Amino acid sequence: MPTPTQPLPSPPTNLLRDSVLFLDFDGTLVELAPTPDAVRVDDRLVRLLSLLSQRLDGRIAIVSGRPVAAIREFLPIGLAAVGSHGMEFGAPDGAIEVSARPEALAEIVAAMEDLSTRTPGTMVEDKPLGAVLHYRLAPEAEAACMELARTLADEHGLHLQPGKMMVEVRAPGGDKGSAIERLMREPELRDARPIFMGDDLTDEPGFAAAARLGGAGILVGAERPSSARYRLASVQDTLSWLEAAAAELA
Ligand SMILES: [Mg+2]
Repeated sequence: MPTPTQPLPSPPTNLLRDSVLFLDFDGTLVELAPTPDAVRVDDRLVRLLSLLSQRLDGRIAIVSGRPVAAIREFLPIGLAAVGSHGMEFGAPDGAIEVSARPEALAEIVAAMEDLSTRTPGTMVEDKPLGAVLHYRLAPEAEAACMELARTLADEHGLHLQPGKMMVEVRAPGGDKGSAIERLMREPELRDARPIFMGDDLTDEPGFAAAARLGGAGILVGAERPSSARYRLASVQDTLSWLEAAAAELA
């Protein structure tokens, strides 16, 4: 478990030399939106990621809780992408390796829909490997959403994954940390250091894995107990830092 520490410093802009860059998407590269579909990807971000991919010789991947297919719709620029919190692997050539969908998800989605119908402002997201209850537009429903999700996860032996204004019941067996460890086993990455940037609780296993492998995590957002070594305060600060780091790689 992360422990409270000193305030985290900003990362040096030469951090990406000899690194592999792993990037969370929501809340890290794009601002969180009232609903998952409403996030905005602008030209600045697309240009920046293309430049980083070029200057890192392709040593870059998006590591998100979203399905790989959704990441590719937002960022159609041929990046490697890990989706569903480390349970889906998408190669730059378009191939996707997905774990089996838990059978219980149909029943879980139905139970969540039932709560959502009775609770205005909540919404259900049916993902390849998980079911999500979002309550960003109904913060008062947090306790009811958490209780239902916890019950469903226990009942079906699935993983309970809380996040920012949402809770997910998903396939067990992996997380962003195990995904980063797997990608770093590629022979050509043996001498590289993983750098992982993320904002949410689901990113903590990724920060810990990056540190174990000789790299570092960068927390995006407010100070909190974290396994990250560095911190940037916001999405805008993250984009500015990445632009400066890309310039250092020129
Ligand atoms: Mg995030």
